[in-house]
This record gives sequence, C-alpha cells and structure tokens, in this order.
Amino acid sequence: MSSLALVSPVPTPVPLVVGQPEVPLVTGERVPYANLDHAASAPCLEPVRRAVDELLPWYASVHRGAGFASQVSTRVYEQARAVVRGFVGAPAGAAVVFTRNTTDALNLLARSLPRETTVLRFDTDHHAALLPWRGRQVRRLGVPASPGAAVAALDAELARCPVGPRLVVLTAASNVTGELWPVAELAAVARRHGARVVLDAAQLAPHRPVRAAEWDVDWVALSGHKLYAPFGAGALVGRADWLQAAEPYLVGGGATRQVVDLGDRLGVSWTAVPERHEAGSPNVVGVHALAAACQALCQHGWDAVAAHEEALVRRLREGLATIPGVRQLALWDADHPRVGVVSFTVTNPDGSPGDPGLLAAALSAEHGIGVRDGAFCAHLATRSLLAGSGAAGQVDGDRALRASVGLASTAEHVERFVTALDDLVRHGP
Ligand code: PLP
Repeated sequence: MSSLALVSPVPTPVPLVVGQPEVPLVTGERVPYANLDHAASAPCLEPVRRAVDELLPWYASVHRGAGFASQVSTRVYEQARAVVRGFVGAPAGAAVVFTRNTTDALNLLARSLPRETTVLRFDTDHHAALLPWRGRQVRRLGVPASPGAAVAALDAELARCPVGPRLVVLTAASNVTGELWPVAELAAVARRHGARVVLDAAQLAPHRPVRAAEWDVDWVALSGHKLYAPFGAGALVGRADWLQAAEPYLVGGGATRQVVDLGDRLGVSWTAVPERHEAGSPNVVGVHALAAACQALCQHGWDAVAAHEEALVRRLREGLATIPGVRQLALWDADHPRVGVVSFTVTNPDGSPGDPGLLAAALSAEHGIGVRDGAFCAHLATRSLLAGSGAAGQVDGDRALRASVGLASTAEHVERFVTALDDLVRHGP
C-alpha cells in the first residue's frame, strides 16, 4: 500500500464515467438514464472510483497518528493539495484549504476578509457567490448587457469605491446560461484599481481549464461533486495572507496549536493556513476523490472534454430551436462561448406558460431523462433572464428548465431529450 497512487494507471479501453444503471419509466419499461443534469452534479469518473476503492481500506485521521493507515491518509491528503493547486493553475505558493464545496469555500473567504473590505459582485452570481458577503460593504453590479459592459461597470464602480481593501467576486461560467465570463479582462481591471479577485469556478472547472495565475485571480473556489467526484469535498485555493490573519473558520482540533489554562480563561493559539481553517477530522476520502478527478480530467485532455461537449450542446441548441414555444435563455449574443449548459422556457401551443416542474417530471418518468427545473440558486439572474419573456412570475415563481451535458452525456441522450420535449410541448405533459 505504500505505493498507493492518487490515480491508478488507466487500462484501455475503459469507460471514463461510472456506468449508471437503467431507470424505470411509469410504463414499467427500463431505459438507460439520460443524464442531462451535469451542472447540478457530475457522475463519478471510473479513475475516481478506483482511487476511492484503493483508499477505503486505509482511511484514517490525518496528521494525528503514527499508524500506517494514518500515514497513508496524511500523505494522500497532502498530495491532493498540490494536485488541486496545479489543476486550477495557481502559483506554487498558493494555499489550498479543503472545504465541503464552493459555497463553503466562499463563506470561508467572506469570514476572512479584513473588516473594512468592500465587496463588488454581479447580480448574476449563483447564491453561493452572491450571499456570503452580507454584513460587509457590498457594491452591487447589475446584469451587464454584454461582456464589455461588465468590464466597464466594474471599472466605473471601482473608481467610485473608497480606498481600502476591495474584493471583486467573479463567476467563471454561469450555471444558468453556461456563458463564459471575461475573467482575465475583469481581473485586469480589478488589479489596476488595486482590488483582489475571487473566482467562483464551480461551473467552469468540469469543462475548461482554470488558469488562476494567468488570469491573475487571487482565489479560486470549486466543488468536487461538479467535477466528477462524489460529494463532500471542495477547495479554496489562493493567497494565504488574509486567511492567515483571520480567526479560524471553525474552531477545534486541527486548527489549534496549543491550549493553556490561564486560570480565568483558556489561552489558545491557532495553527497556520491551511490547517487553521480545517478544524475537525477532514474528509480524506472526498479530498482524494477530488484530486483523482482533477488528474483524470487532465489525463483525458481538455480538448477532448470540450470537443465532446461542444458537439452535444450544438445539437441540443439546434434541437431546442426547432421546438415551437421554446425560448433559450442567454445574457449575451447567441454565439458567445459557453459550457454545456442550456436553460429555456416553454410556451404552450395555446399561449399559456409551460410548467417547468411538470415538464421535468414527465421527462424523467416517461423518458428516463434527468434535467433541472427552477431558478437554479441564481434567483436574480434567472428573474432577469425571464423578464420580458412573458415567463417571469408565472407558475409558482420565476422558473425555467435546464439541460446540461458532460462526459456522461451521449448524442442519443440529446436526441431522446429533443424528441421527448417536442412531444411534451405539442401534446402536453
Ligand atoms: N457557483 C456556481 C456557478 C454553481 O453552479 C454552484 C452550484 O450549482 C455553486 C457555486 C455552489 O456549489 P456547491 O453547491 O457545490 O457549493
């Protein structure tokens, strides 16, 4: 076991994604699951499953035991920091703090900001990036009409900001429209004004390389479960100084260097970053899975990931465009680059709004297709996209449907989805 590798060599040919069993339909028939919900969580990769299998007999508390299992777990856990750091293209000295997910990572950063920090963020962000800054000085940037307008809005708002620490929150790829944000341009503006940048890469990381150093962002947050690893582990990667100056995110074992009895109180000194913000027994298996996913994606190659998705999303969008009453949601031009995420609304043949919840349920029960309906934890973005479509405020709030592709999606899934949706729209769910 001392040769435990983060990822076993991949025998060829091997399916890249763990096979999903057939799913039952209302008719009793069973069909292969068409997973068009990668943006919510991506299914496990085979190399990730193997890496987890190898570790399961050996997981133990890290940093706290001399036993063999503890040594293995500690090594795996610490190796994962380097893997994740490399995966997001962060500089060699960047801190890697393991968290539960992106939400946790951004909340950790929010708790670590110097008190007088002003936070600038776009209304289009996912709630994980929109909300953790409550209680701080927040400057809202609205919904930009174009990527260029986003850059100009940030520039203007930073020029109006008080001097002092400023943090710009950016989303790399939208979980509602899949559109890529001009991260490098926005970060350059932030830098010119002396502001720091945190990048929510939850939705970009499974689809395209994250280039933290090249884009000059200070922190990157991501989630393992969006990245083809099981749930439970994410990371905040970046500058250590604010994190080091902050009180621990959680207090307890691991974050504590020493506790002494001072009579009327306890004297506590804290460990340094990253352990400072990782109190409690960490999720060794989840972190190992996250690192294995990072390695497996790089090994598969970003060109292959992008080519697979682009072909599917092109067909998906073409197919949706042929269905009467379907309106695809986009902030910007139809040909703006995007990852494999498409949200849309439906208008019934009689002009009434289609119910996203009913349609999603019918796609699942009658066709074995998984999509998402709702406002995608991005209520401001979704409401703004629906405004003017005749769909805003209808049927139990502002809701749409979202189909998202990834490595487990096939051309057959997309064809089945387009055919099924066309039928449901024409004849009702
Ligand atoms: N940011 C974006 C763009 C997302 O799509 C998501 C999840 O959907 C999150 C943040 C939050 O991720 P998690 O729920 O893993 O914390």
